[in-house]
Amino acid sequence: MNVQGRRFVSHRVMEYFSRAMAAGRLAHAYLLSGPKGAGKQAAALEAAQMVNCLSPQGFVPGCPCPSCHKILSGNHPDVMLITRDGERSQILIEQIRDLREKFSLRVWEGRVRVGILVDADEMNTPAANALLKTLEEPCSGTLLILTSSAPDRIVRTIRSRCHELLVPPRSKSELAQELINEYHVLSSRAQVAAGFCKGAHAGADKAPEEFMARRDLVLDRYILSRPEYDFIKTLTENRESARELLDIVLTFFRDVALVREGAGDEALIHADRADAVRQVAAGLTGADVQRIIAGVVSAIKGMQENMNIRLSLILLREMM
Ligand SMILES: [Zn+2]
Repeated sequence: MNVQGRRFVSHRVMEYFSRAMAAGRLAHAYLLSGPKGAGKQAAALEAAQMVNCLSPQGFVPGCPCPSCHKILSGNHPDVMLITRDGERSQILIEQIRDLREKFSLRVWEGRVRVGILVDADEMNTPAANALLKTLEEPCSGTLLILTSSAPDRIVRTIRSRCHELLVPPRSKSELAQELINEYHVLSSRAQVAAGFCKGAHAGADKAPEEFMARRDLVLDRYILSRPEYDFIKTLTENRESARELLDIVLTFFRDVALVREGAGDEALIHADRADAVRQVAAGLTGADVQRIIAGVVSAIKGMQENMNIRLSLILLREMM
């Protein structure tokens, strides 16, 4: 792990932790709230590193000291990451009991035992009650960090005992930079994938190269080629790929509409394929583009109402 490969972490949040620690004013419990994908868990882990760092120069992001290294690899005995277990839908009381037990032990390796509760709004009621106890009687030398993108769903008694820090959403350029650093994606492709992350496509920031390969297929075999019914058939075999196709088509024709209004390449989501966008724009009237966009939107709605998605995609293709 080096600075280059570091997940994006909000500077504002880390500055807060750094100041509070230097002043000896760290609270026992924090709630990091902010939208999905803002980097809440990464910020929590970095805070855990900061309070346990062994480097004589003090913590810096990407610190190679043994403690920081262990925390990132999930092997630090004093840092616990609590998440929903695989197929379960909630954080359970056993997990909180486990945390309480570890919090009550002597510090093993680090200076501060840290418990990170990911998506804390997913605790069930018994788990929440157990956590409340921990918050009411904090053990010394412990730090609890909750993260949530739906903090309103955390019971008030818990929320009021945590110091809440807002983790702002990442800008498109910050996200693109992270994709470049972490996945070594080409800059032009990172911009496209980052544009998609703004929507609901988790895939674009977890595996940007795979996402971009699928994007290229949709452009080349659905939008730009003659209708390929076999390809449409493959894509409609699962809802996720059909939905992704519709989002790609929607953003592509949004780009086409922008180009028709005289926008430059930098305004496009599919800027790396600006030539294709311009080529399609040249062959369509403004009314055509509006009709296609309306067609995509109604196909997306149709999916929610369980309409025949394959038929929608064939009809949509025929409009182009
Ligand atoms: Zn360190």
